[in-house]
Amino acid sequence: MIKYELMRSRRKTLSLYVRRDGSVEVRAPFLTSIEYINNFVNKKQDWILSTQKRILAMEANRQTIELSSKEEALYKMKAKEYLKQKCQLFSHKMGIQYGTVRINGARTRWGSCNSKGDINFTYRLIFAAEELVDYVVVHELAHIKEMNHSANFWAIVEEAMPDYKVRRKRLKDFQYQLELVKV
Ligand SMILES: [Zn+2]
Repeated sequence: MIKYELMRSRRKTLSLYVRRDGSVEVRAPFLTSIEYINNFVNKKQDWILSTQKRILAMEANRQTIELSSKEEALYKMKAKEYLKQKCQLFSHKMGIQYGTVRINGARTRWGSCNSKGDINFTYRLIFAAEELVDYVVVHELAHIKEMNHSANFWAIVEEAMPDYKVRRKRLKDFQYQLELVKV
């Protein structure tokens, strides 16, 4: 039986999380029996074990990069140049016009855009593999046409980048692997 921490609340459904340290958390409604919860956890055993393995591997590969303000400013400049080029390239390919490209230092969002077609990217992208950068660029350009994550949106992404699902997953992993620290 897999060990887990049980958190009861006024929720209506059971759910299962594997935390960053590999421990398991189950969130359950107040009245769900322990037997039912144990059963639920047992059924998810394969998923829990493979997720724990993946998380531990990612933690082992975790990389910390220290940046001074000067270095950060330099990376922001480089990122702007690089991402402007990428936007031009994919805008051509996808037939989607965009506005101004800006660079920020966002930690959890790789990119965002507004209804005028302006796109923001985080300079952190400069540390990612090119195939991942390309995916973020395609994703944001597709948002200019579809400001949501509907089936239409993903169809636009897929047309420009048939293997986008693999890249999306790698980008998620990459997010955990890189830690930038300002010194
Ligand atoms: Zn999006």
